[in-house]
Amino acid sequence: MQPRVSRPLLAAWIAVITALLIGSTACGGGGSDASSPPSSIAAEGLPRANTATTTRGTIASPSFKGSAGAGSGRDVGADGTEPAGEEGGDGPAPAPAEDVAGRAVVDLPDDSGDAQIKVMYVLPADAADRRLDLDGTLARSIASTQAWLGHQTGGPKLRYDTTNGQLDIGFLRISRTGADMAATGLNLRDAIEAELVKAGFDKANKVYAVYYDGDSQGACGGGAWPPKLPGKVAAQYLRGHAPPPAAPCGSQPIGGSTTVPAYLDIAALHEIFHTLGAVAECAPNHTRAGHVAGDPNDFMYAGDQPWGSPADLILDIGRDDYWGHGRTDCLDLARSAFVDPRPADAQMPPGWPAGNAG
Ligand SMILES: [Zn+2]
Repeated sequence: MQPRVSRPLLAAWIAVITALLIGSTACGGGGSDASSPPSSIAAEGLPRANTATTTRGTIASPSFKGSAGAGSGRDVGADGTEPAGEEGGDGPAPAPAEDVAGRAVVDLPDDSGDAQIKVMYVLPADAADRRLDLDGTLARSIASTQAWLGHQTGGPKLRYDTTNGQLDIGFLRISRTGADMAATGLNLRDAIEAELVKAGFDKANKVYAVYYDGDSQGACGGGAWPPKLPGKVAAQYLRGHAPPPAAPCGSQPIGGSTTVPAYLDIAALHEIFHTLGAVAECAPNHTRAGHVAGDPNDFMYAGDQPWGSPADLILDIGRDDYWGHGRTDCLDLARSAFVDPRPADAQMPPGWPAGNAG
């Protein structure tokens, strides 16, 4: 008899263990999606995404070669932010003057002292500045997921950082190049979090939803997954690359609607859910480090099937794993302190305050 673990199974376990050792869920792969936005979304005026399989879709932009994506323009000259343009470049560009009107390079005064999610637009040292924080793209991305979430829950949404009633989107140009950051591989999320902490974006009551306009290797996004993977940053890699045959992360639209999320928009919310602790291992359908097995239309699904189209995704099918199950012995994000309105028995993510590994 040969009671040994098969090599594929062993490899799978190693992958899981590796995912747990690094600071993000294996989320780029989790819930991979071969989705193209359904016609209803296209009808909303979103740019038509390509239909190629992707693991974490993103902005409608080509690969990281200095040319900005369709419709995004290249802000060269307007504020002196000439991007190096080449992967690897010749080193960091001089610090550009990016404190253009309306841009928040510091955390502006908060409307609320409660737990909240701060949206950030983060650029590598040598990346083109597409001003997604200023042109409404990120605000629409958040608005669309808020609309989706409110529809799913019957009301409750998430609480975002606002100032004077407006979404307070922070901006950070980090000192490392895109290639340098991408070389961190699956540790990219940790590297981004370290840069945020260094810049002072680490308030005790905040999770940070980062739209990182740089390349990646192996995923289009990543989240923390407390308590096992502590952290406060949920990140989307807007010019990232998931393993082939997935399309480049930048091949899908973002922020095209305030009411109907496209793939990247909903993927960003997926990473936020991870960072708030979902899906806990005690959930009956938990699988693959923070996901649920079963129906690929579940918002937190991961498995061998492609993720459902954004319009088909459902928040916790059966309401037994991560939202509204009502049990007190397993994480229920309906009770998260980040939910607005604040639940009566609101709780911070497990293990909070999130310890920063690096
Ligand atoms: Zn995931």
